[in-house]
Amino acid sequence: MSEKKILVDVQELRTYFPIQGGVVRKTIGHVHAVEDVSFQIREQETFGLVGESGCGKSTTGRTLLRLIQPTAGRVLFDGVDLSALSKEEMRKKRRDMQLVFQDPYASLNPRMTVRRLLEEPLVTHFTLTQGELEEKVSWIAQAVGLAPEQLERYPHQFSGGQRQRISIARALVTKPRFVVADEPVSALDVSIQAQILNLLMGLQQELKLSYLFISHDLNVVRHISDRVGVMYLGRLVESGPTEEVYLRPVHPYTQALLSAIPKRDPSQEKQRIHLEGDVPSPADPPKGCAFHDRCPRCMDICRQQVPPETEPEPGHRVRCHLVQGA
Ligand code: SF4
Repeated sequence: MSEKKILVDVQELRTYFPIQGGVVRKTIGHVHAVEDVSFQIREQETFGLVGESGCGKSTTGRTLLRLIQPTAGRVLFDGVDLSALSKEEMRKKRRDMQLVFQDPYASLNPRMTVRRLLEEPLVTHFTLTQGELEEKVSWIAQAVGLAPEQLERYPHQFSGGQRQRISIARALVTKPRFVVADEPVSALDVSIQAQILNLLMGLQQELKLSYLFISHDLNVVRHISDRVGVMYLGRLVESGPTEEVYLRPVHPYTQALLSAIPKRDPSQEKQRIHLEGDVPSPADPPKGCAFHDRCPRCMDICRQQVPPETEPEPGHRVRCHLVQGA
């Protein structure tokens, strides 16, 4: 079967934030939030980004959409380098690239009815008649499961799950090709999570969408993703087809993360890999492999040299000195 076309191509992306200090507020260092991250997202595929809180997943998503300016690296969207676009060209491009937030309540203006919330992105990106506006709002409301009478209500009149439906509708009403979904179900009850995941997957088929799905929940990511990337301290340490990575994790950090998923069979719990120590500060990342302070298999070379990216299986990429390239 031929591979689908690459829609988003992230190349050696770096995002650093300055640290201000001293009386005159000089830049005294940088937080390395995203460090040399590369991956691709194909048309109509979901790329899941996992890792512990603070590992740089959300910053990667926002840098990719250019809501944050990268320090270095490129993002190609359908072959176009986003950094080469003017402000006006980027504004037009935004209708194709949208974001769904974790907290739908904070991202929805409480003073606007659902109808106005859904009209706003359309008015920003298109010139439409009143009839066309109403038609598009009715279409997306129906697609996400909102009843026509709910369009005249305000966000506070909805449950968390329904508010996330409104958020998704707002992101998709312009018919984007690519959506960054940043922890879109983390704030919801488990029973509602499944409904929203199913909604996202159904809309993906219907609208031929590609997703970057960001989550700390490994089960959720496995359920929804075609490919997965594991982040640690701003680096992408392993990536590949989801089942390949989940069944045959190669990087010691991925192995530890996956071993922490509660098992149905309690006898398997003893296989859990416990990591020592805390995640180092991204303002002062360790030399060599960023994981070496906590890695149960650390070698001398790991403290000195950044591991290169290798590909032990086609499409399965790992950054670890234990791994030899194919
Ligand atoms: Fe562990 Fe070394 Fe591999 Fe880093 S490069 S994950 S320290 S074995």
